[in-house]
Amino acid sequence: MSENCIFCKIANGEIPSATLYEDEDFRVILDLGPASKGHALILPKEHAANIFELPDDLAAKAIVLAKKIATTLKEGLHADGVNIVQNNGEVAGQTVFHFHMHIIPRYKGDTVNMGWKPGELTEEAKEEILGLFKNA
Ligand code: AMP
Ligand code: ZN
Repeated sequence: MSENCIFCKIANGEIPSATLYEDEDFRVILDLGPASKGHALILPKEHAANIFELPDDLAAKAIVLAKKIATTLKEGLHADGVNIVQNNGEVAGQTVFHFHMHIIPRYKGDTVNMGWKPGELTEEAKEEILGLFKNA
């Protein structure tokens, strides 16, 4: 647990939260500033600032848990779809620096906005990026 980390305190029960689910590794809570009805956050109990610091075993468990939470929310709230979002770094929109996954139910006609303008894949960029994975 990291001192002065609000999600460490919430995940470990030091600060109360609207908890949807809890096990030995995670707590799932309702977001206080929901993008849509049912917006939930998956928080590991162990501190990791972002996905790069998250141990592989917790990363694997997190996606299975995300599937379970997304399923219950979608069915229970009659949502039409679900976004699973995970931000790393300020430039990527991260505001709380304790790894978390957003589960955001989507409803036809809602006003949730997480789009981007499609760019163009240049030959130069493609070759550079393919090169990163040649020996991976
Ligand atoms: P991100 O921008 O990906 O770091 O997401 C942070 C999320 O945490 C935002 O959606 C906030 O609304 C939410 N949030 C911040 N503080 C709290 C809190 N104390 N309880 C619940 N959700 C929170
Ligand atoms: Zn933390």
